[in-house]
Amino acid sequence: MQCDKCQNVAVYSRKYSGENLCSECFSNSILRKTAKTISKYKMIKNGDLVCVGVSGGKDSLVLLDTLKKMSQTHNFRIIAVTIDEGIPGYRDEALNIVKEFCSKLDVEFKIYSYKELFDVTLTESLELRENEKTSSCSICGTFRRRALDHAARQIGANVIATGHNLDDILQTFLINTLSGDTNRIGWMNPDNENVELRKIKPLSEIYESEIVFYAFTNNLPFQSEPCPHMNEGIRTEIREFLNMLEDNRSGIKNSMYHSILKISDIMKNNDEKEKRNCDICGNECTGKICSVCTMITNLKKERSNSNIT
Ligand code: SF4
Ligand code: ZN
Repeated sequence: MQCDKCQNVAVYSRKYSGENLCSECFSNSILRKTAKTISKYKMIKNGDLVCVGVSGGKDSLVLLDTLKKMSQTHNFRIIAVTIDEGIPGYRDEALNIVKEFCSKLDVEFKIYSYKELFDVTLTESLELRENEKTSSCSICGTFRRRALDHAARQIGANVIATGHNLDDILQTFLINTLSGDTNRIGWMNPDNENVELRKIKPLSEIYESEIVFYAFTNNLPFQSEPCPHMNEGIRTEIREFLNMLEDNRSGIKNSMYHSILKISDIMKNNDEKEKRNCDICGNECTGKICSVCTMITNLKKERSNSNIT
């Protein structure tokens, strides 16, 4: 079968649009789509320094690869940052992959760890947590967001880019909906042009399956070993459910994504919680103490109790 755009052999069939593409035209379509998302939401501006969160998984390496290509023709710089959660046997392989890939792309690379920033690794926090209902990923996600904020401030970046893809956005929307957390739906809106530290998701309009194909066809060396905590939450079930719907009804993920944009736009202006600064760390939050400081205080309390007994 021939590529719809050139004379080469097609290697990818985009079911939702009916296009057949060769490897090069497919990769170009991903680059074009990413650039379009960036420009639509003014995610990156002239002179920006972008801190790219790179875990070593396919999404973040595709993000780094695409942003590096764009930075060669546009006026912005990138620095890669990896957050080491402290999960034995999992993060080490990823760190090596990211280090080698960054040196190949000639991108500066820095590592920050939970242990160094919060005095506790993820594994230690899971042992200390009071309540098994607090999932590994909710502790990890809270720490990671703060760790990336800290990294960006330290390196002088004004933008944080993460590799979330379209499937991640749909899953997060359903998780927030199922848990009744409507404020978080407002926070999902990609329009945050005027904040001091812009959080951007340039791959948010690309299917996860296309990110995987881009990584394979461009020989990106991503980590295939999943995090040992990956299947503890509801995300995996939602992911499988959405994939089943897409298999039977191509394009349904795109339609849902557009609905989420509209809903999050309405919810953004409905966020009734007043913003203030955390009494401990000074970061913006909705209560007296932010979620990170609350978590750390509780974990430290548990640690001192377990040292006493
Ligand atoms: Fe952290 Fe969960 Fe991701 Fe593992 S799967 S790295 S615990 S957020
Ligand atoms: Zn705080």
